[in-house]
Amino acid sequence: MNALLSVSDKTGIVEFAQELCALGYTLLSTGGTLKLLQEHNIKAKEVGEYTQSPEMFEGRVKTLHPKIHGGILHRRHLKEDVKTAKEHGIEPIDIVCVNLYPFKATIERTDDFEEIIENIDIGGPSMVRAAAKNYRDVLIITDPKDYASVIESLKKGENDEEFRRDMMIRAFEHTAAYDSLIANYMNTRFNNGFGAKRFLVGERVCMTRYGENPHQMGALYEFERFWRDSFKTLKGEASFNNFTDLSGAVKIASAFGDSPAVCIIKHGNPCGFAIKENLLSSYQAALACDPISAYGGVVAINGVLDERLALEINQIFIEVIVAGRITPEALAVFETKKRIKLFECGADRLNFPRDEIDFKHIEGGFVFQEADRVKDEEIQGAKLMGQIEATPAQKRDLEIAYKVAALVKSNCVVYVKDSAMVAVGMGMTSRVDASKAALAKAKESGLEVKGAVLASEAFFPFKDSIEAAHEAGVSAVIEPGGSIRDDEVIQAANEFGMALYFTGVRHFLH
Ligand code: 5GP
Repeated sequence: MNALLSVSDKTGIVEFAQELCALGYTLLSTGGTLKLLQEHNIKAKEVGEYTQSPEMFEGRVKTLHPKIHGGILHRRHLKEDVKTAKEHGIEPIDIVCVNLYPFKATIERTDDFEEIIENIDIGGPSMVRAAAKNYRDVLIITDPKDYASVIESLKKGENDEEFRRDMMIRAFEHTAAYDSLIANYMNTRFNNGFGAKRFLVGERVCMTRYGENPHQMGALYEFERFWRDSFKTLKGEASFNNFTDLSGAVKIASAFGDSPAVCIIKHGNPCGFAIKENLLSSYQAALACDPISAYGGVVAINGVLDERLALEINQIFIEVIVAGRITPEALAVFETKKRIKLFECGADRLNFPRDEIDFKHIEGGFVFQEADRVKDEEIQGAKLMGQIEATPAQKRDLEIAYKVAALVKSNCVVYVKDSAMVAVGMGMTSRVDASKAALAKAKESGLEVKGAVLASEAFFPFKDSIEAAHEAGVSAVIEPGGSIRDDEVIQAANEFGMALYFTGVRHFLH
């Protein structure tokens, strides 16, 4: 039995090779990988020695040889293939363990095009694809995270077709993602700008128990390696809906840098948000916005979840918590709670990736765009539309309200007071309904809107929402402006003594 090991990311390869040897495999390996194995006294044969063809062109040609590709690709059940292999001295290769040149790390590190070109792996993807194509006879491994489970299944004699088939799919996803990364990079470099990331190929992270509903199949895919490498499940299993809610919650909670922000999401929209002195007071203020909706919600904490905060959260039923980190003491608080799910991203903050791209499925395809971001200049440079200026405290609230509004489904209005959301209207077909719904709910929950500020993600088409805000006691408003009735809106705000700012940038989120 032969196993070929040729890896750029050498994590865990020594232990993996040792286990393969112990299972009776003969190892074949390329330059750097071989050297490392030999340093650990692991017996392996150099590919060049086996093929009688040395590495050439500074590694551009290492494994591209019929003895390698024939060894992987010949069909063991076809007499003719086996005969041909024998005639040419080709030995079967049963396991191929390859991960590719670090193209991503290279483009992140340097702009040197020659170096970037050299980091396009050629032989690696060829072997991965060959092994995946012949998965009936060959096991392909592309992820160091799989080494342990591969060894376990080999030991149990479980190297069956179903297992190899699953690894085959993962392998093709891996090479597809690799090539899309290269194509996207070249587009960015040479076709500047829009459409640069048009190849959307993800690698599967996991299947979800089901999709949005129990009769739908679901899975999580990712572009890069955040979910597999940094996102950690401490308790429970994230569902399809958990992933989408969690992503929405994190986007809001991490939109204010290192601030101790807490966001509570329900069905994709925030029902609580606050940035107070610390995470505990932020959570309390976020919860106060709409404790009814928060029940069974998803909480994103931009920091470390400690025991005190855990005890506070534990007082009601929250389904999902995601934090930068979760302390062991906090984890212990939830030990007996069967239904709660806990996740962290292994840092002091919610350092999730922020994609530059955005897309949405439509029947028959998808629409694609650059991701929407609120720029700081938009808020700092917002134009005062009347005589009354906002106080520094109101300005802070306006910033919070505006940034949150950009991440809430349109039509939306967000009311913020003392750095906490006190009312929100979202996903409504008219802006005035969003305003009224938000205010009615705040009133019902006994929340004080008087003195709050108001943000809208798009212009107010009529002055009606301003009137409703005034009745509720709103003191300042921020919105993009741009309506043909802006004058009426400005006049109403001035009449009511409200500070009114226009940013000039719309942030629809449909
Ligand atoms: P090593 O560190 O063992 O010298 O190289 C391992 C890397 O070489 C792996 O990432 C593997 O995908 C890549 N590789 C293997 N064969 C070839 C080849 O023939 N051409 C190129 N360009 N890369 C190869």
